[in-house]
Amino acid sequence: MRTLGIIGGMSWYSTAEYYRVLNTAVQERLGGHHSAHVLLESLDFAEVRELQLADDWAGAGEVLAAAGRRLEAAGADAVLIATNLMHKVAGTVEAAIDVPLLHIADAVADVATAAGHRTLGIMGTRWVMAEPFYADRLARHGIGALVPDAAAQEEVDRIIFDELTQGLVTEESRARLLAVVDDLRSAGADAVVLACTELELALPAAGGPVPLIDSARVHALAAAEHALAGAGQRPVATV
Ligand code: GLU
Repeated sequence: MRTLGIIGGMSWYSTAEYYRVLNTAVQERLGGHHSAHVLLESLDFAEVRELQLADDWAGAGEVLAAAGRRLEAAGADAVLIATNLMHKVAGTVEAAIDVPLLHIADAVADVATAAGHRTLGIMGTRWVMAEPFYADRLARHGIGALVPDAAAQEEVDRIIFDELTQGLVTEESRARLLAVVDDLRSAGADAVVLACTELELALPAAGGPVPLIDSARVHALAAAEHALAGAGQRPVATV
């Protein structure tokens, strides 16, 4: 089994979910007491958040690249950035390491393609929705993207950072997020990607008006597949 290195803590609520999904997948495949080989670089999210708000993406890239290098030096065979937004600096991290970086949008696109979805609504932080880096990565796989209007983008971003990344979930925000999902469906999305790893806390993936793809879960499952390549017989459960 390969060792996975996670750059996490952004926020720790979703990193905990990665750890749970990875270990569940490995135990399902290998049985008994098997669990995932995981190395975790859990950053102080307050420091990363300051760099985001200062628009210091070069600085943020260096922080994550240094974490990636430490994971590789400690024995990681592959590295994951356990957030969608920080894939904005994925190129900097990739350039700093010699092992593969398993990109979250590739995992999302693979699941969307397998389910026959051609157009995804994107819900995430404002950079993920407003900038092209995430949609462009989906487009590499032939997946189109729709985003909420400017007012809804602002509201989703506020709910993420004022509530979800601090572990707060309110019924009011859940209802607001569901309304945004519904608007994306009306605009033509076949499915909506929860392109913020904490959104699943407010919107469990099943039972909405349109299929939801939980980016944290599909990213962790893709990483488990990578770690287990060639090990055991049973396929890892899909979403
Ligand atoms: N976890 C969130 C994401 O998936 C946002 C937190 C962050 O990385 O700033 O984009």
